[in-house]
Amino acid sequence: MSCDPYKWTCARCGKTHCNPFFTCYPREFWKDGKKRIGEVCEKCRDEIDYSNVREEQK
Ligand SMILES: [Zn+2]
Repeated sequence: MSCDPYKWTCARCGKTHCNPFFTCYPREFWKDGKKRIGEVCEKCRDEIDYSNVREEQK
C-alpha cells in the first residue's frame, strides 16, 4: 500500500505499476472488439506500434 500515490494501471493489459518514474504512453488500441484510447505501458506500446506497422505494410 505504500506505493499507492503512484499507482497506475495499464489501460490495455490491466497491469499495475507503482514506479513514480514509470512512463506511460497514450495509444489507440483494440480491446474486447472495441477501439479504445488510453494510457498503456511500454510493453503494450511496443505491441500496438508493431501491429500498426504490420497493418500499414499489407
Ligand atoms: Zn500494458
